[in-house]
Amino acid sequence: MIDAHNHLGRWLSEDDDWLVDDVGELIGMLDDVGVDTVVNLDGRWGAELEANIARYDERHPGRFLTFCHIDWSVLSSDDDERSIVDTLSSQLAASAAAGARGVKVWKDLGLQVRDASGAPVMPDDPRVVSVLQTAGELNLPVLIHTADPVAFFEPLTRANERWDELQVHPEWWFGGPGMPSFRHLMDRLDHLLTLCPGTTFIGAHVGCWAEDLGAVGRMLDEHPHWNVDIAGRLGELGRTPLSFRSLVERFPDRVLFGTDCFPPAAGDYARHRRFLETTDKDFAYSGDPTPPQGNWTIDGAGLDSRLLPGLYHDNARRVLRLTD
Ligand SMILES: [Zn+2]
Repeated sequence: MIDAHNHLGRWLSEDDDWLVDDVGELIGMLDDVGVDTVVNLDGRWGAELEANIARYDERHPGRFLTFCHIDWSVLSSDDDERSIVDTLSSQLAASAAAGARGVKVWKDLGLQVRDASGAPVMPDDPRVVSVLQTAGELNLPVLIHTADPVAFFEPLTRANERWDELQVHPEWWFGGPGMPSFRHLMDRLDHLLTLCPGTTFIGAHVGCWAEDLGAVGRMLDEHPHWNVDIAGRLGELGRTPLSFRSLVERFPDRVLFGTDCFPPAAGDYARHRRFLETTDKDFAYSGDPTPPQGNWTIDGAGLDSRLLPGLYHDNARRVLRLTD
């Protein structure tokens, strides 16, 4: 298997230390559960990118592929559009030369990133479009996470099905005044895809819209360069396993396995396989004692075994340009 969506770096960790202490131990576990390669989405840029690549990709060839980020803080400089795009495009070229295997674009684009005027920067901002077109020219796939679960944009009342989770993480609620709606962000994402036909995209978390697999199917239909990973969304997919199965049957070459479970653990891979490969009913979507995303259980999708090679590795191999 290839886990096309995971985090092994430092920028998301609470103590600024590596999310994985012992890389040898991690590789032993990956061998045990049959994971050949893990995509590490935490490369950032510059020295941090080099440190990630040295620790993972170079020391363990083929086992880890590190993606870089784009330093959106450059958008808040007073430079004109042309020089901002030049700066970000050269940064991307330097990241590619350093060994980055793709670009991760996080949800802060559209929600938090602002330019010099203080305006929020949307995924289809002309400056962003230029830089992500450059990613395509550099043969870097772009794994993009836009918006967040639909419930995070809905009124924060007890009727919100992610109420419990939002009590623990109030910073994940985006339904306040002045915030873009979920639909607005997805429209901007859709427009970005239209404007970057030469760039290969992976839509994180089931194309950023696990709650509406019909909408995911429409975007896959409209954009041949759009692919989706299933990371972090067993809780959603396991509520509509038959719709998920239909989506994979309709797009067997476009759905990628990924977990977003970090640090990676054997139980998370077993749980994903149970969802994908069995028709078991009423089981936990997470290893946490309290269901983190909502108080429900899931059912397995029971995918036909012929769909699994694509989902588990072949689709990722194509998107990630793994040739051997
Ligand atoms: Zn992630």
